[in-house]
Amino acid sequence: MKQKKIAIIGAGITGLVTAYYLKKADIPFRIFEKSGHIGGVIETRQENGFVYERGPNSGVLANVETVEFFEDLGSRCKPEIADASSAKRLIWKGGMWHSLPSGIAGGITTPLFSMKDKLRLLGEPFRKKGTDPNETLSHLVIRRMGQSFLDYAIDPFILGIYAGDPAYIVPKYALPKLYQLEQNYGSFIGGAIKKKREKKEPSEKKVSRDIFSIEGGLQRLTETLSEIVGKENIELECSGLSVKKSAQGFQVYYKEKQEDFYQVVSTIIAGELPKLFPFVENRMWEPVSRLKYAKVTEVAIGFKKWNGIPLDAFGGLIPFKENRNLLGVLFMSSLFKDRAPKGGALLTTFVGGMRKAELTDLGEDALFQLIKNELEITMGIKNNDPDLFQYSTHQHAIAQYGADSEARYSAIAAIELQHNGLYLGGSIRDGIGIADRIKQARLMAERIIKEA
Ligand SMILES: Cc1cc2nc3c(=O)[nH]c(=O)nc-3n(C[C@H](O)[C@H](O)[C@H](O)COP(=O)(O)OP(=O)(O)OC[C@H]3O[C@@H](n4cnc5c(N)ncnc54)[C@H](O)[C@@H]3O)c2cc1C
Repeated sequence: MKQKKIAIIGAGITGLVTAYYLKKADIPFRIFEKSGHIGGVIETRQENGFVYERGPNSGVLANVETVEFFEDLGSRCKPEIADASSAKRLIWKGGMWHSLPSGIAGGITTPLFSMKDKLRLLGEPFRKKGTDPNETLSHLVIRRMGQSFLDYAIDPFILGIYAGDPAYIVPKYALPKLYQLEQNYGSFIGGAIKKKREKKEPSEKKVSRDIFSIEGGLQRLTETLSEIVGKENIELECSGLSVKKSAQGFQVYYKEKQEDFYQVVSTIIAGELPKLFPFVENRMWEPVSRLKYAKVTEVAIGFKKWNGIPLDAFGGLIPFKENRNLLGVLFMSSLFKDRAPKGGALLTTFVGGMRKAELTDLGEDALFQLIKNELEITMGIKNNDPDLFQYSTHQHAIAQYGADSEARYSAIAAIELQHNGLYLGGSIRDGIGIADRIKQARLMAERIIKEA
């Protein structure tokens, strides 16, 4: 082939960022998208004075690649950093919200953790490090910190990020920074202190815990990217797509047409891979296809006049132990500008997840009643009907990195090795957040550019 053209499957953030870097390197590509929408799960809507998300609500500037990506985009699309109140996180316990403590003083006085575990925490730096790479998160936290830290800090955090179960999640894959803290420094507390003191590269200094969206919603980012990479390079409504091997590389079959490519990048969910790439032996897909996903219903709920509790935090998370029907509530109108009419509020709530998936099958009326009841109790809303109620259910919302991850990573590596030029990306590996996707996309693009 004269032109080494790349096929990208999926027009979500991973596919778009990969295309962005290929475009910068003058490498021709074409994006194939099953749906009629660019952006994947990222989708922002406006209604009745509210601006709400139907997928992710925010990202974190958690790695160098994400920071540099926004630097590179410059004025074309600037991140909007969440209000400073986002540093405060609320946890529900015993019928009220408590701030998750960040310092030692707060840690001692908080009612979230038991006295026994607070005292046990003093010994955390001296506990032996784990030796099982497949140890679950709950096991790791109980071993190092105690049951109440698992129940009232880690469990709600995992519900908030993974809609998951800490007894299933394996930190080595799901929370690699936490895993490395214990493995490299022998302790979470000691490791965090030592890491803070270590000399950092200038690029690493830019990384923060800052939470971002984009003014007007995250879809502005995917819209900007689609304009930069060129809408003419994105083929929408390509359901039934299939890829075959050819002498030059790969052939993509779509809409009764076929096109030759040098390399192929996939960004889709695990279960669809065997159908897309029938030339890969089924037994090789087996460990990949096994990947589980949390099913989640996301509800945007808006009030033109807010009469509930003060919304001076990122949001509230509800530990599974508290036996409520919400996973958490994000205070979106406090975090970002112009998400609700003045004096009003926009909340995003989530139901379902790995341990309460049945709640995602409630009909609209039952879901509305459930959300209303839960918010009356947890948010102190009085006699107030919402002015916005919109929901979206995601069958494969968040990949769950469990003890099967090692086998999945090995299978992905083996498939890529056997089929040179095939790149398997997306949330099947490397993390589930927007920042993880941006980092993975850039690294995949760099591998492709090197080989071009
Ligand atoms: C409800 C929800 C809330 C979230 N909240 C957050 C959050 O607050 N912060 C955060 O950092 N992350 C969050 N995430 C995760 C984050 O949104 C994702 O990691 C990221 O957006 C995924 O991007 P992607 O491009 O890898 O996948 P996707 O966005 O899923 O894009 C993949 C694309 O591939 C297409 N496709 C699938 N199969 C085929 C096929 N066979 N042929 C062609 N095209 C195909 C799909 O239609 C889709 O457009 C959330 C996710 C969900 C679902």
